[in-house]
Amino acid sequence: MDKRVQEVVLRDSATPAIPNMEVGGNVLITRLDEIVNWARRNSIFPLTFGLACCAIEMMSTAGSRFDIARFGMEVFRASPRQADLMIVAGRVSKKMAPVLRQIYDQMPSPKWVVSMGACASCGGIFNNYAIVQGVDQIVPVDVYVPGCPPSPDALIYALIKLQQKIRTQRLGMLLELNPRPQPALESPSPTPQLSEGSS
Ligand code: SF4
Repeated sequence: MDKRVQEVVLRDSATPAIPNMEVGGNVLITRLDEIVNWARRNSIFPLTFGLACCAIEMMSTAGSRFDIARFGMEVFRASPRQADLMIVAGRVSKKMAPVLRQIYDQMPSPKWVVSMGACASCGGIFNNYAIVQGVDQIVPVDVYVPGCPPSPDALIYALIKLQQKIRTQRLGMLLELNPRPQPALESPSPTPQLSEGSS
């Protein structure tokens, strides 16, 4: 069957003759950006990083009903060094913020961040001293997913939006020639000390 197909292609008068070209070889002409982005957006490895209730929805996204394997993203990695997508699923406490940033820094570039749910995006209902009021204060966010909790469909929609964003990236950006500005971490406020004699 292969041999017959080769014969048909070779006899196609619209195919230009290229001297010294091997018989049966295929030629693909595209931009390097396009082929690199195609490979990257279809093989994103998310980090295993669930913080609160939103993580349950993130887990079900990887289950058989929603199945992000269709996007080549089903391999949740346990090590940041093998992941290029951080899905911040849940509220980020101020105690967790430096840990989150360290994990982000350990991920290889290029890397992306999805802020999943109201808590991760703006603190949600937890407008208090313990919760970071938006994870974009800690790491640069590419896509925000609204909701409390967002459904797996909403997360899949965000991942498609991320794929569209990756598609528009240029190689200079991919090589981090112009690195994106990253939020600076606030130094933790000093713990108040009890003075002697205070009750
Ligand atoms: S957005 Fe809602 S579901 Fe998600 S972590 Fe916050 S409270 Fe939980």
